[in-house]
Amino acid sequence: MAHTCIHWFRKGLRLHDNPALMAALRDCKELYPVFILDPYIYNNTLVGINRWRFLIGCLKDLDCSLRKLNSRLFVVRGKPEEVFPKLFEKWKVTKLTYEYDTEPYSLSRDKTVTTLAKEHGVEVVYKISHTIHDMDRIIEENNGKAPLTYNRFRTILKTIGNPKKPIPAPAIEDTKDVKTPCSENHDKNDGIPTLEDLGHDTTTLGEEKFPGGEQEALRRLDENMARKDWVCKFEKPQTSPNSLSPSTTVLSPYVTFGCLSARTFWWRVTEVYQGKKHSEPPVSLHGQLLWREFYYAAGVGIPNFDKMEGNPVCTQVDWDTNHEYLAAWREARTGLPFIDAIMTQLRQEGWIHHLARHAVACFLTRGDLWINWEEGQKVFEYLLLHGDWALNAGNWQWLSASAFFHQYFRVYSPVAFGKKTDKNGDYIKKYLPLLKKFPAQYIYEPWKAPRSVQQAAGCIVGKDYPQPIVQHEVISKKNIQRMKLAYAKRSAESAESPNQSPSKKQGVKRKAKSVIDMLQKKDKK
Ligand code: FAD
Repeated sequence: MAHTCIHWFRKGLRLHDNPALMAALRDCKELYPVFILDPYIYNNTLVGINRWRFLIGCLKDLDCSLRKLNSRLFVVRGKPEEVFPKLFEKWKVTKLTYEYDTEPYSLSRDKTVTTLAKEHGVEVVYKISHTIHDMDRIIEENNGKAPLTYNRFRTILKTIGNPKKPIPAPAIEDTKDVKTPCSENHDKNDGIPTLEDLGHDTTTLGEEKFPGGEQEALRRLDENMARKDWVCKFEKPQTSPNSLSPSTTVLSPYVTFGCLSARTFWWRVTEVYQGKKHSEPPVSLHGQLLWREFYYAAGVGIPNFDKMEGNPVCTQVDWDTNHEYLAAWREARTGLPFIDAIMTQLRQEGWIHHLARHAVACFLTRGDLWINWEEGQKVFEYLLLHGDWALNAGNWQWLSASAFFHQYFRVYSPVAFGKKTDKNGDYIKKYLPLLKKFPAQYIYEPWKAPRSVQQAAGCIVGKDYPQPIVQHEVISKKNIQRMKLAYAKRSAESAESPNQSPSKKQGVKRKAKSVIDMLQKKDKK
């Protein structure tokens, strides 16, 4: 039977390595490629303007690629459970295909939509291609639990074997017998909205450094992979948080929206490695992609993964509620230039380097402000081009030493850390031009500059730029003690009820080296 099929694009906004799209094209007479602006995911309180712009770029690019296959993208607004029954009837749909998604909301949404599809006699086909591996298989191989250390995770992967090879994008021959019936009013009724349609004031927008879309993703991948020596020598701790142009690939927004398949990325790196000496996980480029898989598995296997409460691997900490501190951090007015420059870059560009994330996340939580990591997670979710449920939650738990990383006494200095890679403070001057006339000696600590220096720089601390909201040397020592107490409480609780300890519950078989141990060892070499 020839099908009338909806391929539901959610993430996976690409044609290459899209097995669910290929499944849609099999025995298909009519294809409706659909993207739903689901208000649960896409609303202006959760998604910042930069991410909206990125998404619109992705959708335009996808529509353009579909046109080359004589098809079009339909952008529909509404809740999927309300949208689909109408579409099933309107188009007389017999098959629905989509890429599998492991986030809790997506799983419950897809369950509801699958039930509705069955009620309408619609066959449902989904394929795994957002991650390199099948997360459920990883958890199954680890006795039903998420692996809690990177080493354990890699051991499990060895039993699973190499990732599948990516598949090519459909060619025009694959769609020669397939039609996408479109009305004359397609652009008006089912077209891609503009930022203005979505209620945004675009006058505040900065330069579009990372335009969305599959074509840009593949171009960026090619550009990065052409630097063969750089790819082979890539070691994350050796890259710089405050270089003036990114020192890592900035492929993450493309991987998050699925403009770039993680498997394609993996195998392209493998090709570059062929016959050459290269770095290894956890610090290599392959290692970075495995971190992604690691946190995805954690997100699948650990209940309440994006919360402290009810999350069995997360240390319970008596975080403070301090709206003023939180707002100062979010709005880049902590008075600590390195922190404020990073938060400015995040707001303007929607991307910051991984180690810059370390600095601001540690500062917000265990280092200085003692604010719950969930608050930071929300701000990142809003401001990042590539807010990713599992990666954001996992990394925030790591940085706040709530889970995965436990050396809470190792705190990043908001002054010394940035100086290591940018003595002159050029990065600070770029993002906080107000401070650009400060001499290098004071750029990280302008409050220490004599009044005459502040006057000459045209910036008086306390008037034009804030005084630091905390004294790092004092507060960080106090916070280490508070963290020590939280850890002691956790140990006492797990001694009282050993079966409830996170490691027992989550299937850690033996004590594995922490990643920070591995990084330190690498650094020493
Ligand atoms: P590269 O260094 O070039 O790495 C290549 C790919 O590996 C990335 O595209 C990404 O998919 C993956 N990757 C790299 N580092 C990590 C990591 N630590 N964890 C998981 N995957 C990784 N990344 C997101 O994509 N979305 C988020 O919401 C997010 N939130 C974060 C929050 C905090 C507090 C921290 C510390 C990190 C967060 N990260 C997040 C992870 C990481 O910082 C970014 O993925 C990475 O810095 C993006 O830069 P890049 O594309 O140049 O990556």
